[in-house]
Amino acid sequence: MAKFYITTAIDYVNAPPHIGHAYEKIIADVLARWHRLKGENVFYLTGVDENAQKNEQAAKAAGIPTKEFVDKNSKYFEDLCKNLNLSNDGFIKTTEKRHVKPVQDIFKKLFDKGDVYKGNYEGLYCDGCEAYMTEKELVDGKCPEHNKEPEWIKQESYFFKLSKYEKQILKLLKSKNFVVPEDKKNEMVSRIEQDGLRDLCVTRYKAEWGIEVPFDKDHKIYVWIDALSNYITGLGYPDGKEFKKFWPADVHLVGKGINWFHSVIWPGILMAAEIELPKTILVHSYLTVDGKKISKSLGTAVDPSETIEEFGVDPVRYFLIKNLPLFVDGDFSTEKLGESLNNELANDLGNLLSRTLTLVEKQFKGKVKGKVDKDLEKKLDLKKIEKYFDKYELHMALEEIWKFVRNANKYVNENKPWEKQDENVLYNLLESLRVISILLEPFIPSTCEKINKQLGVPKGDLKEVKFGLVKTYKVSKGEILFRKK
Ligand SMILES: [Zn+2]
Repeated sequence: MAKFYITTAIDYVNAPPHIGHAYEKIIADVLARWHRLKGENVFYLTGVDENAQKNEQAAKAAGIPTKEFVDKNSKYFEDLCKNLNLSNDGFIKTTEKRHVKPVQDIFKKLFDKGDVYKGNYEGLYCDGCEAYMTEKELVDGKCPEHNKEPEWIKQESYFFKLSKYEKQILKLLKSKNFVVPEDKKNEMVSRIEQDGLRDLCVTRYKAEWGIEVPFDKDHKIYVWIDALSNYITGLGYPDGKEFKKFWPADVHLVGKGINWFHSVIWPGILMAAEIELPKTILVHSYLTVDGKKISKSLGTAVDPSETIEEFGVDPVRYFLIKNLPLFVDGDFSTEKLGESLNNELANDLGNLLSRTLTLVEKQFKGKVKGKVDKDLEKKLDLKKIEKYFDKYELHMALEEIWKFVRNANKYVNENKPWEKQDENVLYNLLESLRVISILLEPFIPSTCEKINKQLGVPKGDLKEVKFGLVKTYKVSKGEILFRKK
């Protein structure tokens, strides 16, 4: 059986999650659920970066011990996974023993083979990125990601010999589908071709918080070898059953701001550690809120759990996927979310189910059978949907499914089953709803559960997306799917 391993980036826990965190996790969840529908063995990992210096700074600013602060904020992220109805199979926190020990072992392994060495670092450092920076990366003297001037620091450090792997990394980057989409791959390739790869500072001197270098108490391992390794420790690296079963990752889903770390640095570490390389780094765009960058001070750090509370989880999932294509920056607003809930979810899908079941119960006491209407069935283009999924055009896949929802509504309006009893028309509407529910499951899983329950059918898989599989329906109309706003 094919396997599929997908990860999200692990989040800093210096603040509670915002809608941008929810966006990435939902994309990964849609892909994970889609691959399960295809009958694959799926592992979906998400988690939090608890060791980040940022967390320590935020804890200090809040006057709370770092451990306590980190635990509190991590809980918000764990809760978010539940609130978003994610199907994640794992959740990793980088202070866990199952992470710390393997990270120290990897560090030691690289040191022993000479790929990590001790030296002196002098240069610019952005504490937002937790990264040393070059003049070239700055825009108007500031880190473009954090709009902040980096500090000049000088200290003893351990370095990773990233330069040694330049040729190999470049070759990997140029291989098909390693970085998706194409323009994000080209950015990485041209950056290496122009500047080459320099060795990377991989420790922090005299830091209080973080994972200790196992043979040098003065240094903490930082972000690269630590945080990136979550993708393997989360599977139980080195000896865990799941590591053996699921590694290498099929998809590392990341925001465009951390593409370099995943497409260049992470493969370098894996090459040095002699671990198999991931297959695809899938780079998504950012979202704005009401046309503005997400930021606490601008008041745009929308709390996804509150939005879910107000609109329901599936309308949020649906809206983010439908309106924010993966590779284009998009905008979130609760106003547009409300419109999509009313016009698409409630009017198109909710009504289709409720008027069909009302007629089936009224005219046939809830029980119908019939013959397949090929013309209606043909309006569903599964191949096209699969193609969109293969290209990660999730919004287009959803639109293609929605086309069929609209076709089913058209079918009702044209056949007017309320005017005369027409068991066959109702039967075909139920079959439509059944396959719609299979296809929508990755996007709006709890709604599909409700649909299945009312149709009296079990959860289906992709092989069951064809008409005629259920011969007789015995339905029971339940609560409406969506309450309008
Ligand atoms: Zn920065």
